[in-house]
Amino acid sequence: MSQDFDAIIIGAGMSGMYQLLRLRELGMKVRVFEAGSGVGGTWYWNRYPGARFDSESYSYGFSFSKELLQDWNWTEHFSPQPETLRYLDHVADRFDLRRDMQFNSRVASAHYRDASQDWIVTLADGSTHTARFVITAIGPLSAATLPNIEGRDSFAGQSFHTYYWPHEAVDFAGKRVAVIGTGATGIQTIQEVAKTAGTLTVFQRTPNWAAPLHNRPITDEEQAGIKASYPDIFRRCEETFSCFLHTADPRGTFEVTAEEREAFLEKLYGEPGFGIWVGLFRDMLTDPAANAIVSEFIARKIRSRVNDPAVAEKLIPTNHGFGTRRVPMETRYFEVYNQPNVTLVDIKATPIQCITSTGITTTDASFDFDIIIYATGFDALTGSFDRIDIRGEGGRVLKQDWSGGARTLMGMLVEGFPNLLMLLGPHTALGNIPRSIEYNVDWVTRLLAHMRQHDLTHVAARPEAVAEWMDHVMAIGEGLLSNQVDSWFTGVNRNVAGKETRVIARYSGSAPDYRAKCEEIAAGGYRAMVLQ
Ligand code: NAP
Repeated sequence: MSQDFDAIIIGAGMSGMYQLLRLRELGMKVRVFEAGSGVGGTWYWNRYPGARFDSESYSYGFSFSKELLQDWNWTEHFSPQPETLRYLDHVADRFDLRRDMQFNSRVASAHYRDASQDWIVTLADGSTHTARFVITAIGPLSAATLPNIEGRDSFAGQSFHTYYWPHEAVDFAGKRVAVIGTGATGIQTIQEVAKTAGTLTVFQRTPNWAAPLHNRPITDEEQAGIKASYPDIFRRCEETFSCFLHTADPRGTFEVTAEEREAFLEKLYGEPGFGIWVGLFRDMLTDPAANAIVSEFIARKIRSRVNDPAVAEKLIPTNHGFGTRRVPMETRYFEVYNQPNVTLVDIKATPIQCITSTGITTTDASFDFDIIIYATGFDALTGSFDRIDIRGEGGRVLKQDWSGGARTLMGMLVEGFPNLLMLLGPHTALGNIPRSIEYNVDWVTRLLAHMRQHDLTHVAARPEAVAEWMDHVMAIGEGLLSNQVDSWFTGVNRNVAGKETRVIARYSGSAPDYRAKCEEIAAGGYRAMVLQ
């Protein structure tokens, strides 16, 4: 039986875009289905005020085309979302990607057909499309979740989840604005909205450690330097633990004097980007005593930046150490709380009781608002899969198979779901995301090229290979402080039933280790998989 397409890719974000390009090179007939009206995925949806990279722009873009690298000028060291979306539109134009993409097309289901060993994909409009392979490019942070607060739908003013931000500008001038959530998104939003809002009230459940981004424009001289050093930039990303330009200092925290430690942390705090997180001493994210040193250093910084000592204490996390959750990068975030128009409400102390037609009621007070912003995060890693009805061999349901936590092979294949390939699925190395995307896409492309070359049409993960991979994922997650803390890193989201408890949700080893494992699995004719 012939199929409509060789492969269907779900999602036109960075993964889907690059995968389309690579499959075209193999001569495959491909269709990308995308729920949004344009390319860009994360950077298409997240239009909230203040959204920008936390990784250096020039380490984040696609690396696969020398021409593309040379013809694009990033204007800031950490690109703002509108520029990133322009970049991705430029990539789509430059490589003529849109002709194989269908927008405003949300995939509702993907079912494997045992008899024909292929997939049938149904869109939200009911149309069906068949393909030999389905490749998910649906992102680890794309199933946005609203808070499960009573009365949420009764609010009569404007309200937005940051992910579903409107395409039109939102005017905050003179408005009474609430933000719920203080993760990386909330912090970027708060520091921007505080500039113009009449009043801004921040509802914080758990404070997060945050550190300065130190963004600035890229000068002409720097631009020339960046263009000349792209090979070095990407080589560096390939070598580091998380594919960032920064990586851990090889020294142990207690191998240096207290003065040297202080000077080291001070230096990192004053430098741009993630150095203050992933460039710490090598044991600071694994040894609680070493971690306490950096946590105390950052706590002192917060106290020095916030005028009211009581507010400063509320902003200092007490239930997790620095860097054990994703560190939000900020620009004068803590100083926002020195502004007369900004109020911090600690909803651990005075929980939200309900949302009403006029605002938010806590156990302590009622607040009236014109706008409520939900920066309440995502059903991460598996949520975007759960939202599609994905069925494999014999009709087995992926969501059910993963109800106790995802089980994968390299985060790219799932036992019982032949010819389903995942880009940035659970248990892939994340870190600097586009670097991980390019690796995953190249790996999948090599597999499909091998299959074409050998006239193979069916690939399935071997159960024993999945078991071995999962043992590796679990073992490598041991001892990491971040795996002992509730966050999206550990798959916890209390707004979603069944996601209340921690799992080892992501690959916690280094990206070079991840790649080495994937190469090992590919070596010798892909013996970890059944190929027919
Ligand atoms: P998040 O880190 O999961 O933060 C969600 C926030 O909402 C938390 O403060 C959480 O509080 C709060 N919250 C959730 N449900 C709530 C409820 N029912 N009541 C009150 N508060 C509630 O999500 P995020 O900030 O969107 O960030 C997710 C990830 O996206 C980041 O870690 C990062 O990887 C990525 N991101 C990247 C960038 C960038 O690269 N520039 C920018 C933004 C985001 P609790 O902590 O108490 O649960």
